[in-house]
Amino acid sequence: MKKTVLFALVAILASCSQKQSQDYPIQGVSLSHVRFTDGLFAERERVVRENTIPFAFRKCEETGRIANFARAAGLDTTKFTGLRYDDSDVFKVMEAASYSLSTRYDAALDQYMDSLIALVGAAQEPDGYLYTIRTSGGLDVDPKAGPERWNDIATSHELYNVGHMYEAAVAHYYATGKTAFLDIAKRNADLIYNTFLIPGRKIASGHEEIELALVKLYRATGDRRYLDLSHFLLECRGYCGDDPKPVAQQYEALGHAVRGVYRFMAIVDNAVLYGDKAYRTATDSLWNDVTGRKMYLTGGLGSYREKERFGEAYFLPDEETHCETCAGVGSCMWNYRLFCLTGESRYFDIFERTLYNNVLHGISDDGMKFFYANVLQCSPYTFDWEKEWAKIRPKSRLRRSHRLPWFETCCCPTNLARIFLSLPGYVYALGNNSLYVNLFTSGQSAFETAAGESVELRCETAYPYDGDVRLTLEKAPLKATALRIRIPGWAQGHPVPGTLYTYLDAEPSLPVIFVNGEVVNYATEKGYAVLDRKWKDGDVVDVRFEMPLRFVKADDRVEAVKGRIAVERGPIVYCAVLPENEKDIRTCTISPEDHFEEQNQDSASVSLMDTDRHLMFIPYFRHAQEGITQMSVWLTAL
Ligand SMILES: [Zn+2]
Repeated sequence: MKKTVLFALVAILASCSQKQSQDYPIQGVSLSHVRFTDGLFAERERVVRENTIPFAFRKCEETGRIANFARAAGLDTTKFTGLRYDDSDVFKVMEAASYSLSTRYDAALDQYMDSLIALVGAAQEPDGYLYTIRTSGGLDVDPKAGPERWNDIATSHELYNVGHMYEAAVAHYYATGKTAFLDIAKRNADLIYNTFLIPGRKIASGHEEIELALVKLYRATGDRRYLDLSHFLLECRGYCGDDPKPVAQQYEALGHAVRGVYRFMAIVDNAVLYGDKAYRTATDSLWNDVTGRKMYLTGGLGSYREKERFGEAYFLPDEETHCETCAGVGSCMWNYRLFCLTGESRYFDIFERTLYNNVLHGISDDGMKFFYANVLQCSPYTFDWEKEWAKIRPKSRLRRSHRLPWFETCCCPTNLARIFLSLPGYVYALGNNSLYVNLFTSGQSAFETAAGESVELRCETAYPYDGDVRLTLEKAPLKATALRIRIPGWAQGHPVPGTLYTYLDAEPSLPVIFVNGEVVNYATEKGYAVLDRKWKDGDVVDVRFEMPLRFVKADDRVEAVKGRIAVERGPIVYCAVLPENEKDIRTCTISPEDHFEEQNQDSASVSLMDTDRHLMFIPYFRHAQEGITQMSVWLTAL
């Protein structure tokens, strides 16, 4: 009997170590090798680096978030302030700052980070525990922290906080090579491994995050226990949370949208690293449910303000919705993983749609004001609702007509900082003897292929407002490498992979591609134009996407926008705008026969005027950038 058990154990360990070597077949070109030069993302990255990061650190100081670490360390005798999950905001800004150090080194920021890391280390208890509200003796400030360690993890966010700490520590390690932060993360993860990884334990953190963060910690350290812990904690989700069934049997997106997409990310990671087919099936089903039945045209997720949750299938109200910025950021990260697993462009189509619309809408031009919820219509109804809501909850983060500088629960601004400063890492990817071009943005890149060959690539484009993209292989790989250029869904005649949204005119307008000035034929595979040839230094590839204005309609089952259409151009969703006190935007109409003229064309924005109705359309993400206006993505179609 004992022998059988031993053999079984050996077999399990052998299969585990075999599985350990698996990872995503496609890997992104690291952000430190890609530099944006100009255009929308270069500008947004610069603003987040120069404004958002110092602003967020300053707010973390002003609100006591950083002092809480000093309080836990015994260096400050004043009382804990804020909420039990405020540690996570500090970690998220630290993660974003690490990405900034990776792409553009800044000695002052490096030094500031070192001082913060020392403070975080001082706040850590000798056994590795880290949770400033408890260690500083501030439990009475926010009782949801729970009276004892981990006895109320459904509400305490103890594991959520440290998950963000692991992500920050890994980013800092990759950026600087320093291990001080990583050591803090390892000490904490070791404690959690020894405490939680007990067969039969069936409780999970109320907010997903640690599961995906442990996978990153595993990759950075090579310590398999962290991967096992990630898997174990995911399995614990089968007994609690928004969808209390084993994650391998979770086929529908239910409950809190942000927590959901964070969980979905961990499920994909585990599906890949464990080669788990049931997880993979769950992943596909969840993605089909979200993108086929529960996603907004902007890529936004979460139909209900109450509990910030996914709606029922096709329940997508446009004015009274939630579409939290964090859910959009999480959706990008989730879809990125699915691309790395499959090499299919449809995942990057969702990434692009969400990034240019839902996510970009979340942040102001100066990078210091933010939307928590991203509604698709803002009419007098919203203005009245806001006035009433402000009386009930004066400090609420829920504003729908204008961005706010900071929130008491401040998850979204720090998530925006993370995504925009890590964005260079999402542009190109390598795998299958191919170089994938996923986002079109001007920049200069120098990196090595998996075979160790140097590549230097320049991209010049005014995308997303112009469809001409020039890629110059300044240094070409010697071996044959396929260049796989994403043909966005919008260019193939469908706004989203399923049928939740369709164009009135579904004619595809596939790009014309030139190599060194000559038109070339190309194969399409998994949504990519494939140029498989022997490249030489200086080869120039020109991609010309047509960007006609398109009208979109939703599936008839989406009651909220029945009989209405929306305007898109390229990856950009447009919205009609009216002055705040003019007639009600809900009465505005549009016809697919209308004439549109481009106006206010600059690198930041192209507006469109419906000259038949004298109605102005601006990119959705520009809403409320220049004062409060009425706004609507969907208009009644004539
Ligand atoms: Zn948020």
